[in-house]
Amino acid sequence: MVAAPSRELQFLIMMDAEASPEQVERVLARVAEAGLETRVTPGQETTVIGVIGDSDLEQDALATLGVHQLDGVKQAMPVSKPYKLVARQTSPDPTLMQVRGRRVGQGYFALIAGPCTVESREQTLETARAVHAAGATMLRGGAFKPRTSPYSFQGLGVEALHILEEAREETGLPLVTELLDPRHVEEVIETADVIQIGARNMQNFILLSEVGKGDKPVLLKRGPSASVEELLMAAEYILKEGNPRVMLCERGIRTFERSTRYTLDIGSIPVLKEETHLPVIVDPSHAAGRRELVPALARAAVAAGADGIIVEAHPDPVHALCDGPQLIPTGEFAAFAEEIRTVATMMGMQMG
Ligand code: PEP
Ligand code: MN
Repeated sequence: MVAAPSRELQFLIMMDAEASPEQVERVLARVAEAGLETRVTPGQETTVIGVIGDSDLEQDALATLGVHQLDGVKQAMPVSKPYKLVARQTSPDPTLMQVRGRRVGQGYFALIAGPCTVESREQTLETARAVHAAGATMLRGGAFKPRTSPYSFQGLGVEALHILEEAREETGLPLVTELLDPRHVEEVIETADVIQIGARNMQNFILLSEVGKGDKPVLLKRGPSASVEELLMAAEYILKEGNPRVMLCERGIRTFERSTRYTLDIGSIPVLKEETHLPVIVDPSHAAGRRELVPALARAAVAAGADGIIVEAHPDPVHALCDGPQLIPTGEFAAFAEEIRTVATMMGMQMG
């Protein structure tokens, strides 16, 4: 038996900025006549029409369609990248993400901060208050933790989700928390405002499809050994299921270098900004592994064009159950946040 061809985005048709709704309709009708589906993305500058067809569609199908000749069409081109829906081509305007009234992207900067993991009610609330007072726009905190050692603290699970809810209630900060296992989808989706897919799960395609079926924003972390293209293909899995609300996160990759925990791939930030319309968030904490290095990496990330950063903070890092050496003490967080705001402002961004 021969496998059926898959349906994917094949061509993009860019309309002129002044194209009328009637001209857009005429293009849609022509594509429908040829038996192909469309997906329309209205932009500020131009409307983009995506043409969806079988993966074995003839290369000259675009010429046969003849849309170039219709009024109001600026350009029609095949989608040449392996990733389609996340590609910058598909949506010339960068994506603006709204999370409980906080904005990310299109000049709005996200400062996401909080503990690596929820250890107790007191530790979480104290951290939430401190980062909120310092101007953080979202609260992070792991309830289910992916740990290298099976003997390490694995997270408080559902109890942690309730503690996070209390922190949100008090501070109003949206919650970013990790989904580790498809069996926890319901609980995590119910609590989280942003679902984090951790580095180790970047290519867990079942998990990606699960979050793609929902409409909760997703923070997708780059795998320590994943290329930028693999990160974009992982995001494509989520968008393909219908959820366009994805933020990408550079958190350091594994290289031969041992002086930092991972190597922060600063170059990936402008590359991602060029390749995709999705917001790019940087995690300097896991890349650095040492709190002394976190501010410098964070400033560099903002200067390189990141739409936000996600950082770990704790009231008492020495006694933390997870990632102690890289946690910023909450007592020092306000000064750190001020530095980040300064660089973000220099980059023409405002806090989301
Ligand atoms: C975390 O955010 O605490 C975490 C475990 O990150 P990563 O998946 O990037 O290692
Ligand atoms: Mn951590």
